[in-house]
Amino acid sequence: MSTTGTLSINTENIFPIIKKFLYSDQDIFLRELVSNAVDATQKLQQLSSMGEYKGELGELKVTVSVDESAKTITISDNGIGMTDAEIEKYINQIAFSGATEFVEKYKDKGDESQIIGHFGLGFYSAYMVAGKVEIQTLSYQDGAKSARWECDGSTTYSISEGTRETRGTDIILHVNEESEEFLQKAKIQEILNKYDKFLPIEVEFDGKVINNTKPIWTKSPSDLKDEDYLAFYKELYPFEPDPLFWIHLNVDYPFNLTGVLFFPQIDKNKFEVQKNKISLYSRQVFITDEVKDVVPEFLQLLHGVIDSPDIPLNVSRSYLQSDANVKKINTYISKKVGDKLAELFKNDRPGYEEKWDSIGVFVKYGMLTDDKFYDKAQKFCLLKNTEGAMYSFEEYQEKFKANQTDKDDNFVMVYTSDREAQHSFIESAKKKDYDVLEFDTLIDSHFTGMLEQKLEKTQMKRVDSETAEKLIEKDIKLESVLSEKETEKIKELFETAVDDKTKTVLVEALTPEDHPVTVTVPEFSRRMKEMQMGSGMNFMGDMPLMYNVTVNANSPVIQRILKAKGENRARISKQAYDLALLSQNLLTGKNLAGFIARSEALLAD
Ligand code: ADP
Repeated sequence: MSTTGTLSINTENIFPIIKKFLYSDQDIFLRELVSNAVDATQKLQQLSSMGEYKGELGELKVTVSVDESAKTITISDNGIGMTDAEIEKYINQIAFSGATEFVEKYKDKGDESQIIGHFGLGFYSAYMVAGKVEIQTLSYQDGAKSARWECDGSTTYSISEGTRETRGTDIILHVNEESEEFLQKAKIQEILNKYDKFLPIEVEFDGKVINNTKPIWTKSPSDLKDEDYLAFYKELYPFEPDPLFWIHLNVDYPFNLTGVLFFPQIDKNKFEVQKNKISLYSRQVFITDEVKDVVPEFLQLLHGVIDSPDIPLNVSRSYLQSDANVKKINTYISKKVGDKLAELFKNDRPGYEEKWDSIGVFVKYGMLTDDKFYDKAQKFCLLKNTEGAMYSFEEYQEKFKANQTDKDDNFVMVYTSDREAQHSFIESAKKKDYDVLEFDTLIDSHFTGMLEQKLEKTQMKRVDSETAEKLIEKDIKLESVLSEKETEKIKELFETAVDDKTKTVLVEALTPEDHPVTVTVPEFSRRMKEMQMGSGMNFMGDMPLMYNVTVNANSPVIQRILKAKGENRARISKQAYDLALLSQNLLTGKNLAGFIARSEALLAD
């Protein structure tokens, strides 16, 4: 006996619309059908454990197969199966109305990315690749008769007696011409690898089980060893070096979430934001690796897996952002990461310091983007100096505040962004017993700016922004050996030597051993320039960097200039200035050639 029926269509045929999704994300048909097959076997497992199914469970398994000559893809399971009445109910009514609802909702939205990653179309997604779909099924229930359903993508379907002799279901897709690429084994393998690698029931394809049914995030941390985490990491990212450490997430209230987040090693000098390394799963089915809305931005640098059935996947992105569960998940993950770092800092300071170059990137990024995290991280954020010593904020203040507080009671933190280029400045600062911090990564320029705002009465000064004497202004000033008139004269001489509107000549009393002339870019000028470049704003015109040319009144060279006669005064001044430029790599072209000619003449004198 066989019956036919008509799928009730409200507005228009849904099949052409389902097929349209071919162009956005056609792969999902397989994920949907394999998920259904897994559900069907898990339901049977459950019935059995409740004592409602007394038969043998056997080895529960889903098999995917491709028949290239028949042009079919078959998804088979030995789960609960369906009776003809159940087909009528679940496939013709429920699944159909589910698909209709989906199509209704999204058919007018041109922008497919609106549809959060991968909305499940359910059973009817089969029509994304198939012209005709056939179901052969036998229910687990005693005395059930096998049933067959078929629908060719028109609005009529038929149900008749089937041929399946063992419990379970075959979904047979008669692949249409445009979708024949899905008949290639490699293609199917690729989709299975993407979505189904961690399904809880074995999935077999081409004679091999393709999934790991018990990935570590489903296990209890107490049952796992370091090797297990490392092996799992290798499984996920075969080409990455070992992670530094990891966090096992496990909550069941007020939302469900499990997962493992790994801290990767990061080359701080090659800092690129490597996002999309966290995969989102829902009950072990891969959903997406765009976790933008679920994971706080700074933590998207982490790698790993998050699995939550509570993350809504069937709604638009803007909804997701305001979803209460998603917000809680966000807060929870940040807190967990903060706790883990605090724990490492406290319990294994040497290990923590060793990893700081990598960890620091997350910590700084987190502090910059998340106030709550900043508060927490204040305790475990490290400051590293040019000698490689590391201090917490508190330790740093304690150790250096006395010597590095200026006359206005500001604690001045001195830093270098480039040890090589700023070497002589670093040496001068060290002679004054100043500690020099190393802030040399991309993120550091933002980080130093933030620290200055957040830390009270604290200033950040790059080591080459002033002469060492003025880096931290104290009440006690060195006396100048020059008279007022001599000072004027020297200023005049150097202004002629410099002859550049972007450079201001200052005559200052430094120690006699200091350089006769030093060229610096004041902190404010450099920051303005950085801001302009960083923002891409050009309305201020191409703002030039402003320099200070500090002439050391107490240098013996200055006495020499004053004593010199005629042209020699200008010559020595120019020479001293050029040397200052040279030491900063600022002497080029014509000026460099002039300097060399002058030096040679001086040698010949
Ligand atoms: P969903 O899985 O979200 O319920 P689907 O459209 O994918 O929606 O499937 C509709 C229903 O059809 C399922 O809920 C289930 O009852 C039934 N079904 C689908 N595939 C199978 C299968 N392989 N074995 C048993 N029942 C199935």
